[in-house]
Amino acid sequence: MADSGAARRGAHLVHRAATLSVALAALCGCASREPPPPALELAGPTMGTSYRVTLPGAPRDDGAIGAAVRQTLDRVDALMSTYRADSEVSRLNRHESSEPLSISAETHAVLAAAQEVSSATRGAFDITVGPLVDAWGFGPREASAPPSEETVRGLMERTGWQKLALDAQGPAVRKTVPQLRIDLSAIAKGYAVDLVAEALERLGYGHYLVEVGGEVRAAGVRADGSLWRVGVERPDSMGRSVLRILHLSDTAVATSGNYRNFREADGQRFGHVLDPRTGRPTANRVVSATVLDPSAMRADALATALLVLGEGDGMALAEREDLAVLLLVEGAGESLREFKSAKFRAKMEDESP
Ligand code: FAD
Repeated sequence: MADSGAARRGAHLVHRAATLSVALAALCGCASREPPPPALELAGPTMGTSYRVTLPGAPRDDGAIGAAVRQTLDRVDALMSTYRADSEVSRLNRHESSEPLSISAETHAVLAAAQEVSSATRGAFDITVGPLVDAWGFGPREASAPPSEETVRGLMERTGWQKLALDAQGPAVRKTVPQLRIDLSAIAKGYAVDLVAEALERLGYGHYLVEVGGEVRAAGVRADGSLWRVGVERPDSMGRSVLRILHLSDTAVATSGNYRNFREADGQRFGHVLDPRTGRPTANRVVSATVLDPSAMRADALATALLVLGEGDGMALAEREDLAVLLLVEGAGESLREFKSAKFRAKMEDESP
């Protein structure tokens, strides 16, 4: 997830650099006689963070590629942002009724994928955490201080992924609790990556790297024939360095972390990933979760869920669901322990930088 720069807020906020960064390692300049032709790079702001598309072999850019990428990202923002009052999700959140509401096929697809991950993670991933996200100050609205226990208890009654009923026919969605509010921040950027990848494939490109806010999808190879290299950041709230480089092709990778986007109050630090079972920020020792999956959307959601589950339940999920997972866990002192699932070990040839 790229860092869209720290933004300072009130006394409670120590700093809120946007999101954990999965540093895109400098694409290795593997020794080759002829330097490969420059890749086409497209980049810009989106969804409160940034995007980057890399197409090796300097394809002719008659503007069609840039337009396809921009339209795709703008469409996801217009449908799924909780930072825009005119988005479809904001309209759904204002719909305080248990009557079904028609939604777009795209939003239905994301809600259905979210429900699948909620079910597989036994509720550790839950898009209905919206009211809690706002109460803890990690949404579009300021929060002057952490919510009281009583406030959290009250908001918990208005959350719960099973209180959202989907109807593929409409497509439509129904809230069994009218005050339910959803937050797609942990899945929609991954969805945007998948949609951009599909747009590039439709334009005939089979070799590319797409990144939105640190969610990445790599296809094919780089111009010199080597695999794409994506760095997993060392979890350090004060600096940036690459801990591990992953060599990728034809897969997506997402990392969630709670060491960049946090608040402090009364000497306590609260990360932006919430445990839907307690209504509070996660309190385990996992500081970063990386997931490889063919879908960036699924990798995005699973990475967030793994932060909630912690290393024991997280690795049990990874083995149960045959997921390629790397967890970074705080040990004694400044030490960091790595937990890799069997699939991650089998899939990943990785090297320290
Ligand atoms: P991730 O780990 O991927 O997700 C954590 C986020 O998911 C939390 O911030 C919270 O919102 C939510 N969450 C927390 N716990 C859970 C849980 N257990 N289950 C499910 N979800 C949970 N930010 C801006 O500042 N300005 C914008 O204009 C803006 N527009 C956006 C538009 C869209 C369409 C989306 C999807 C996001 C937008 N954002 C915006 C938010 C920003 O892009 C990031 O999504 C946010 O900072 C968290 O991303 P992350 O990858 O760091 O965290």
